[in-house]
Amino acid sequence: MMRGLRAKSLTLLFSAIAASSVVFAQTQALREPDWKKLEPETLQHFQSLLRLDTTNPPGNETRAVEYLSRVLTAEGIPFQTFALEPSRANLVARLKGNGRKRPILMMGHTDTVTVEPAKWTFPPFSATRDGGYIYGRGSLDDRPHIVAGLMTMIMLKRLNVPLDRDVIFLAESGEEGTTRVGIDFMVDQHFDAIDAEYCVAENAFIQRNEGRIQLAQVATTEKVPRMVELVAHGPSGHASVPLTGNAVARLSRAIAAVSAWQTPVRLNPTTREYFTRVAALAAPDEAARIRTLLNGTPAQIQEVIQYWAEHTPMYASMLRTSISPTIVNGGLRVNVIPSDATATLDIRMLPDENPDQFFAELKRVINDPLVDVKPVEFDGKPRPLGISTIDSDGFRAIQTAVAQNYDTVVVPTMANGASDNAQLRAKGIQCYGIGTVRDLEDGLKGFASHGDQERIVESELYRFVRFNWDVVTSLARAR
Ligand SMILES: [Zn+2]
Repeated sequence: MMRGLRAKSLTLLFSAIAASSVVFAQTQALREPDWKKLEPETLQHFQSLLRLDTTNPPGNETRAVEYLSRVLTAEGIPFQTFALEPSRANLVARLKGNGRKRPILMMGHTDTVTVEPAKWTFPPFSATRDGGYIYGRGSLDDRPHIVAGLMTMIMLKRLNVPLDRDVIFLAESGEEGTTRVGIDFMVDQHFDAIDAEYCVAENAFIQRNEGRIQLAQVATTEKVPRMVELVAHGPSGHASVPLTGNAVARLSRAIAAVSAWQTPVRLNPTTREYFTRVAALAAPDEAARIRTLLNGTPAQIQEVIQYWAEHTPMYASMLRTSISPTIVNGGLRVNVIPSDATATLDIRMLPDENPDQFFAELKRVINDPLVDVKPVEFDGKPRPLGISTIDSDGFRAIQTAVAQNYDTVVVPTMANGASDNAQLRAKGIQCYGIGTVRDLEDGLKGFASHGDQERIVESELYRFVRFNWDVVTSLARAR
């Protein structure tokens, strides 16, 4: 609908300044793809990629890179591949601009999470079209970004669009838990190939509920996942003789203390703007709670957070570093008191949290010298995290493209989940998470990303490709 409105207002504008040859030249210069005609081609790339099994582990993302290489070669678009391991290649394509501005990077990941084939109605790599949907592992996470990036490169090249900045397309491996072969490898060893002013990638979506688009998330930052193991120690012995200092009891007290801990509440520029904009869209009682959060006294704010912890836990989590105990281990048999017991905590830190101070505080909260607090290193994110600004041409371009394509408002978001945007922000790139329309009710029924029936509304794939094009061309097209 907004397409039509935009076309109409452009027509009015042009007729107002008369159909001079200058105007004609300008309209010619605004080379726009014929989107309807591109749908079969978009679908073909999307389905072809869905049919490649790149589940991670083991990955085999090179399969996707080989496919993309063939397409790019046929189109005459230059690209390079970078592989830490032969089967796990990354691909970088680049269209050169005149260098007046620094590059823009489009990023998508080619791996997917694993599948349990028995739970799928349509086989997970069949790319079946049914009832307006396309089913398959990766149909939401993250093939749409790959296909949108690919189609944007193809159309920029075919239409020979003059560019003020280089447009880079990165198809990266290993996002789902093995970033050492993907983004870490690219950032640490080949950063020149992907360095940019702006980046658009995953980790947000456009929320639709019962057929109505509510808002467009644009992720400007994300929480930092950390893992901690609590190890409680105590005397071992025969269980018929209870011992004070029993490690299992000690561990239980520690878990209870950690769960009761109200970690400090903090807003950052992203979450402050998020709640301000959501308040304008929310029902009156929710809007009142948000106003309290933004302007209330500490006691009032605490009350609101208490309410959200029960009713909207996502909001409560956005306001503080969160802790969820997830794994407990201890003991071998009923009549043996074990000498230690362990619990694993999933911690999601606010972007500005100081990990060492936080762990020290955690130890004070547990207040037991016989419980060790051991941070666990894992592949991926623990780096200083940036927050991308909402006061930039990049963010404004996304807002305009959202209005044009989806007729809704942008809400800057701090994603609770992690993505590879974090590594790019840490290097100073203004990185924005964008995404396709997702039906909120779909997620609850198991059709979400990582779910056993992942699917996308076919028409939303096409709309996302257009949206992505609008964002990139409005930032890169030569003026
Ligand atoms: Zn993803």
